[in-house]
Amino acid sequence: MDLGIGGKSAIVCAASKGLGKGCAAALAREGVALTICARGKEALEATAGELRALGASPVTAVVCDVTTDEGRRALLAACPHPDILVNNAGGPPPGDFKDFSLEDWRRAVEGNMLAPIALIHATVYGMMERGFGRILNITSASVKAPIPTLELSNGARCGLTGAVAALARKTVRRNVTINALLPGPFDTDRLRSTSHKIAEARGQTFEAVHEARKGEVPAQRFGTPDEFGATAAFLCSAHAGYITGQNIVIDGGSFPGTM
Ligand code: NAP
Repeated sequence: MDLGIGGKSAIVCAASKGLGKGCAAALAREGVALTICARGKEALEATAGELRALGASPVTAVVCDVTTDEGRRALLAACPHPDILVNNAGGPPPGDFKDFSLEDWRRAVEGNMLAPIALIHATVYGMMERGFGRILNITSASVKAPIPTLELSNGARCGLTGAVAALARKTVRRNVTINALLPGPFDTDRLRSTSHKIAEARGQTFEAVHEARKGEVPAQRFGTPDEFGATAAFLCSAHAGYITGQNIVIDGGSFPGTM
């Protein structure tokens, strides 16, 4: 299916690896001009090369921390008027509520709530004037069902979800949609690093922990960044203008609710 977004421009945040890279790759296959960012230069430039090979033209790689004002300024200087914005950043660390300081909470809110809000604020009104826009926030399945060890993530991501829920109903009349994808376990560096941490804490091997986590997913496997990217690209497509304000869980059946 032609997604009808060839020639559009997109900012995909935190896209040198994992889910952000999956989204960028799916948009690249549609001929979208990409501006991507990450903090590490080497991986980012390698990914930019892969995206060019997939058909994205041009691809601009901005080395920056998207959770800072300076980082977002650099990103917007490279692509001031994006048609598509995919918000993403690293997730907050695991831990227990009793050990988190107010500073930990501030960092989580800054990275996973305020950073995407700032980029939405900077881009959404231009999208509305131009009559096309697709904004996608990568959040987490923790928005639907809290994850006990990820309280910082549970809080900051629900904050973002609530902050844009009304806006998504205002922008849609101008063909600008705002949705979120809520990943369950996907096979990325982030997932592997949390398996390493759990293994260390429990005195088990990485393999034992990782396999056990896989076994808990009804699909009996982790999701792939390509699958994630394909769903993201559809939500960013010309065909998805009637979908807004939705929080779509993509988790191999892990969420246990009927709806
Ligand atoms: P990942 O494989 O570790 O990749 C993270 C990407 O984001 C890398 O390209 C990283 O590059 C970049 N990045 C991280 N912090 C950044 C920052 N401050 N500024 C710019 N770029 C940044 O992680 P992932 O699994 O794709 O996860 C993406 C998001 O989804 C995270 O928020 C994660 O918590 C959430 N999530 C993931 C899963 C899962 O199973 N994978 C499940 C639920 C939620 P640099 O390090 O070089 O900056």
